[in-house]
Amino acid sequence: MKKETKFVNAGRQSKWTRGVVNPPVERASTVVFDSVKQMKHATVNRGNQVLFYGRRGTSTSFAFSDAMTELEGGAGCAIYPSGTAAITNAILSFVKTGDHILMVDTAYEPTRDFCDKILKNIGVETTYYDPLIGADIESLIQKNTSVIFLESPGSITMEVQDVPAIAKVAHQHNCIVMLDNTWSAGVNFQPFDFGVDISIQAATKYIVGHSDVMLGTAIATEEHWEQLRENSYLMGQCTSPDDLYLAMRGIRTLGVRLKQHQDNALKVANWLATRDEVDVILHPAFESCPGHEVFKRDFTGGNGLFSFVLTRGNQASVNALLDGMHHFKMGYSWGGFESLILANTNVGRLRTATQWPYEQPLIRLHIGLENVDDLIDDLSQGFARLNAVLDA
Ligand SMILES: *Cc1c(COP(=O)(O)O)cnc(C)c1O
Repeated sequence: MKKETKFVNAGRQSKWTRGVVNPPVERASTVVFDSVKQMKHATVNRGNQVLFYGRRGTSTSFAFSDAMTELEGGAGCAIYPSGTAAITNAILSFVKTGDHILMVDTAYEPTRDFCDKILKNIGVETTYYDPLIGADIESLIQKNTSVIFLESPGSITMEVQDVPAIAKVAHQHNCIVMLDNTWSAGVNFQPFDFGVDISIQAATKYIVGHSDVMLGTAIATEEHWEQLRENSYLMGQCTSPDDLYLAMRGIRTLGVRLKQHQDNALKVANWLATRDEVDVILHPAFESCPGHEVFKRDFTGGNGLFSFVLTRGNQASVNALLDGMHHFKMGYSWGGFESLILANTNVGRLRTATQWPYEQPLIRLHIGLENVDDLIDDLSQGFARLNAVLDA
């Protein structure tokens, strides 16, 4: 089945839909049984998509899990109330006190904070590594390294990682490879074709796609699925069926949305590349983005999220750019239908294993589904405000 067809069909097996088009919202805490035999059957099969108790899920979550594994691959999908919960539970499901993990230096900031605060407190040590390290990651692997965590492209700065090179070395040393695959939406990078063991998404972003639900997913290979599923369950992870219903709706239009976000973003990025205010475009499809060659080799498409570095700017001029935008609202997220803008004047603060090479501020854009000309006008006026402050 081609991916466009999968978006339409994923998770819609008749055992979940019972004949209607969309798998219904099935709300439950208590599940009741009429016979000892029935109850015993549910108990024995409670980890295997059988109604047992609300925390183990209902047909709504079973359908959504199926849909995600149909899209991304893997043996099963665990569901969490946020992307961050997916990341932390996936890691906690596979580490113990005394272990060491390798974390990419460009990880999403709360992922870093989790390592520096929670993991540290339970005696799991973190070493940060250069996102462009590739097979040289071998030099950082210790006897007690249990997990190598990747995020590609990197948060804010967009470095694309050589996932297969890292995965190959990781497996030679029996390390589990986890990837934050949110940027690809599980669509434009097929993690299990490149050696990933556990693929994680903030489904909050493109899967949901409408900026109104928090949701996380972690999909594992056959080898790791049981441990991920059972340990996440033991940590109490479960999700509202209403949220899952909305996420399922998101999947139906994921293909056309991603394509439109990608096309709009490329148009805006190409326009930015012609502007004197812009020094470097950090979009994986641009040669100026570290890891661009790997992107061309491993990804089948992009989306609406990228960054660029200003030629010049300070806090006051960046504030002038941001205040007064009409279509780009400021917000700490992305993946919805609307455009967003964010400025970062101190990217270096987020990095410890690598040196951020630019002094100037960075701007991150999420390009939504608006008309591109309106977005370009908005940015053009923003640059005029920036220049007015700098030239005053
Ligand atoms: C947003 C985001 C997360 C966290 O997702 P939440 O649902 O907000 O917890 C994790 N990783 C990446 C790359 C993200 O952009």
